Amino acid sequence: MGDGEKPTGWLEPAMADSVRDDYVVLTARHMRSQAQLMFTGFIASLPLVVYVGSDGAQWPVRLGLPLLILCLSLAGLWVVRPTITEQTAPQAARSMIGRAWTLCALTAAFGGIWALLSWSAAPAETKVYYPAIMSLGALTLGYCLTAVRAVGVTTLLLALVPTGVALALTGDPMNLALVGAMVIAIGFQVVMMKRHQDLLLMLVEERHRSRELARVDPLTGLPNRRALLEHFAKLAELDNNVRLMVIDIDRFKTVNDRFGHDMGDSVLRQFALIFSGHARGTIHAARLGGEEFALLGPADALDPALALRLLEEIRNHAMPHGHQVTASMGIADMPVHSSSDWNRLYGRADKALYRAKRGGRNGVVIDNVANDSARYSDPALSQALKRG
Ligand code: GH3
Ligand code: MG
Ligand code: MG
Repeated sequence: MGDGEKPTGWLEPAMADSVRDDYVVLTARHMRSQAQLMFTGFIASLPLVVYVGSDGAQWPVRLGLPLLILCLSLAGLWVVRPTITEQTAPQAARSMIGRAWTLCALTAAFGGIWALLSWSAAPAETKVYYPAIMSLGALTLGYCLTAVRAVGVTTLLLALVPTGVALALTGDPMNLALVGAMVIAIGFQVVMMKRHQDLLLMLVEERHRSRELARVDPLTGLPNRRALLEHFAKLAELDNNVRLMVIDIDRFKTVNDRFGHDMGDSVLRQFALIFSGHARGTIHAARLGGEEFALLGPADALDPALALRLLEEIRNHAMPHGHQVTASMGIADMPVHSSSDWNRLYGRADKALYRAKRGGRNGVVIDNVANDSARYSDPALSQALKRG
């Protein structure tokens, strides 16, 4: 069993926690259309149910129960009315499943009671029709509710168990044969539900994998620009003061020119390794593209004093081509309120980086000198940092 994977019993298949929310939303989406079909089917078959009502049964059974089922089905259609999309909150999807489950179960239970009472009140020659009608109805139900195991199984059982038990208790061989056929049919339905759910889970896992791949830089394994923008959007939601450090390898073109592109790639991988060591908690590292990398985090967590330590670490790192590598860095911070603030923040950090390059490379420039560097935790930094 994989990381974070928990056995969840018969309610839902075992899955990693990371995919659980998406799985719930997808199954709610399927269940919604299935339940619509089921409740509509119930309503459509009610005239038939009233027509075949057992002569021996009282009106509460012949008319009352079908009417109750009509009301429950209408309530069911109401509950599954809201559209579910990939953007639906998992909590809303869960709550729809829960309410629809209750109504499916109640509808099935009253259907089962109708079949049981009609069967017991019917004359011997027509008795067999009621379990037969209920079996066909319940199997259609089971077919309709394959997306959520718990809903499908409880609905099937509630519809068939009352009549099944009553039939079995008669001890009559033909009734027992009918019960046997019911059990086999239920078994097949449950297997089908499981297969459908496995397929849905596979779909969710596949979607997750491709989403993950789209967020990772294939050369270095670091998160890419898209992933960094997602982190930025999360920080912006918190109305944080956010700091961005953009770092660019100095004269990297000469590494490629002198040692070849493959060696250039190895240097980039080593560089990424140094970089990823500084990503922790709310601080995220990414490769923005080419030989440009970034660290992003809340301003109070991403200390600018890290800049000089990082440049020193880069200079001291034994690179695969056997030569020292230096880098330049631009830093900017500002309060952000929405993901559209990225362009402004990046623009400022990029301008600071440009000034660091122009100022001779192998150094750091902090954007916005109005930010008094004395407030940074490392006092030595304010002298060391070059101002543009
Ligand atoms: P500067 O100090 O001004 O940043 O100079 P530079 O040479 O680092 O910058 P320039 O923009 O002139 O060149 C960047 C080079 O990075 C050019 C490009 O071929 C190389 N590069 C970009 N992406 C990759 C990559 O994935 N692998 C390799 N090996 N090289 C890459
Ligand atoms: Mg460069
Ligand atoms: Mg560059």
